[in-house]
Amino acid sequence: MHLPELPMTPTNPIDNSAPAATCSKPNCGCGKPKALEAPTAYPLPMHGAHNPGNTRNVTTPGSFANAPDLGGPLMFSSPNTPGMPAPSTKTAWDFLPDGWSVTKLDAASTPDNFAWMGRVASGNPHVPTMEVAPANDGARGTSACSCCKTDASKKVEFLTARGDRLSVSYPRAFVPVTQLEFARLGIVTPQMRRVAEREPHFDILSSGKGPEAVRDEIAAGRLVIPANINHLSYKLDPMAIGRASKTKVNANMGASPISSGTHEEIEKLQWAERWGADTVMDLSTGGNIDDCRSAIVCNATVPIGTVPIYSMIIGKKIEDLDWPTIEASLHHQAKQGVDYFTIHAGVRRAHLKHVKNRLIGIVSRGGSLLAKWMLVHNQENIMYTQWDAICDILRQYDVTFSIGDGLRPGGLADATDAAQIAELETLGELTERAWRRGVQVMIEGPGHVPFDQIEWNAKVQRAICHGAPFYVLGPLVTDMFPGYDHITSCIGATSMAYHGAAMLCYVTPKEHLGLPKKDDVKQGCIAYKIAAHAADVALGIPGTRDRDDELTKARAALNWEKHFELSFDPDTARAYHDEDLDVDTDFCAMCGHDWCSVRISKEIVEFVSGKAEGFERMGGKDGMTPGAAIKSAALTPEQQEILAKRGVLSPDEIHKLASKTKRAMSKGAPSASSGTNAASSSAESGKVAEWQSGKADAATAAPGKLSCHSDYVDPETAKKVQAEKLVQINLAPAFGIAKEDRVI
Ligand code: SF4
Repeated sequence: MHLPELPMTPTNPIDNSAPAATCSKPNCGCGKPKALEAPTAYPLPMHGAHNPGNTRNVTTPGSFANAPDLGGPLMFSSPNTPGMPAPSTKTAWDFLPDGWSVTKLDAASTPDNFAWMGRVASGNPHVPTMEVAPANDGARGTSACSCCKTDASKKVEFLTARGDRLSVSYPRAFVPVTQLEFARLGIVTPQMRRVAEREPHFDILSSGKGPEAVRDEIAAGRLVIPANINHLSYKLDPMAIGRASKTKVNANMGASPISSGTHEEIEKLQWAERWGADTVMDLSTGGNIDDCRSAIVCNATVPIGTVPIYSMIIGKKIEDLDWPTIEASLHHQAKQGVDYFTIHAGVRRAHLKHVKNRLIGIVSRGGSLLAKWMLVHNQENIMYTQWDAICDILRQYDVTFSIGDGLRPGGLADATDAAQIAELETLGELTERAWRRGVQVMIEGPGHVPFDQIEWNAKVQRAICHGAPFYVLGPLVTDMFPGYDHITSCIGATSMAYHGAAMLCYVTPKEHLGLPKKDDVKQGCIAYKIAAHAADVALGIPGTRDRDDELTKARAALNWEKHFELSFDPDTARAYHDEDLDVDTDFCAMCGHDWCSVRISKEIVEFVSGKAEGFERMGGKDGMTPGAAIKSAALTPEQQEILAKRGVLSPDEIHKLASKTKRAMSKGAPSASSGTNAASSSAESGKVAEWQSGKADAATAAPGKLSCHSDYVDPETAKKVQAEKLVQINLAPAFGIAKEDRVI
């Protein structure tokens, strides 16, 4: 049910013609518009996003984005470039379970003392049973509804944050468990209240009805609170993902078969939380996966996501995957407290024919595994055929879906192709079916997308999946900078968030190259906090820009202490400053005293620099004298040395590192793996050790690739392995495609 537009509240203006806030300079009285006035013939393209106020937490004036429209179909959104798909006219209200219905009543006849009333037993141990005694108006509320006491259904009535009066009828025996189900019954859960507390703009934009606004967005399917009922028993601090809330960041971690262990992963979890990760995905494929997952859930204050298929095939082939294994594994991980599952149910057999023209095929682990399963069995994706049963398992624990994009593009050339869009259409169908079974849904997205295609990708998802939160990996906007993919992807992530993504999955500098270590986690988190924050500022989310403005005032005042305090990473900011100057001066080492424009601006009294109250630099002997310099603690020689090595290798060091690898590649190295290409003799093992230590010389080198390459085989062996191991695909019977058009 798409609720009709309502007039906005006074704090939520969308009218372009509404007057902007006027100049507030003391003793000025000029009455001119305050923010972003254009003194030329070129009016600024403000789509109604006037400053909703001028107090703290109500700032962020003058965004060029659409006006905040909480509860409407757009929420925080960029203006559509011509040709972009319009938002869906449907929401989760249009996909209610069997036996449910919703009716919009006449709000005009609503009494002043109207309130939710009735009794709804709770099936979620962290949400109390809702019971409110009826007042004089006995026509609403479950226990107050005399007309349906003998019926198979019950009814509740409630007011939305925007003032709509809804009547919801549902089966009498129904007991809600998920946040979506409570929201549909008009119930504000403790988790919804916590979300509103953590994100005050909900209150600001709904005249103090923040928790109700959160509830309404969840009921519409556009916001999720990933909070497994078992994780809530540990340390989980509920948060929300959706375009009505601030953009969230996910950090991936997890042991691989060749690197990392449980202790290291817990350290990475805490490190990611320290650097602002809003959720963490445990993508372990090696080590003690079960213990690692359990330890991560117990220690995490943020929601934890997994890709359950990984642990379903440990110790067995993907071909052997069956429903009992899937069912047992989903129950097990849900009992452990995992908050959201990535399930690649959207990859269908009919989509595989579109993959053959790609440059890099299927890059999603889950997608490639299930493609192989379908081809081996010549059957439809088992996750798709069992979707309803999977929904029922997730509902029991209020696990949220993160419906995987198994056919996401793995390079710019494959972006926005037939395979990706065909799968997205299935994701829309799966969304509707999950909503019908009361399960919260997010949708995963690409991947690798050229910058110009990002807006369309965000908006076509919004249309097909009816506004379900979009959770994207990057996307990378270029493929030729391995080692810097936290930067290439953070550019795409900023754009994707501005155009509609609700959560960004971080990419670290190790992407495509290896398992991230602690510092890679930090670099990835910071890059993505920047992307998310930049998008939130651009979207005009109230309060988002406050800290930027505070830092600007401290910078203008040359108040270095405050400057560092307000920085996202104060230690790094301080160290970089102190590297060059051991005194807190009225300038820094960038331009020096005579060329410091901020210092010069401060000396021009008419200018604002350095005058913001509370931001003056304090110094002198007692540290209390306004404007006086204070002696910096500066850096010890040891600290200087650490700083000199910061994250950047000298050209000489890079050359040394690369030359070792190059030598091994060009002159060949013996294999360390077993099987057809095993180094079987001890002499061979000795060579391996030499190569791995970089000590082997040309005389002892054998031709071939590095020992870590599992495909290091001679051409004859390679043919044999292919004949034995590769899936021979014959799609002809199913799709009329020639046998030689192989997918893999
Ligand atoms: S010296 Fe240059 S960079 Fe440093 S504070 Fe002054 S203007 Fe800014």
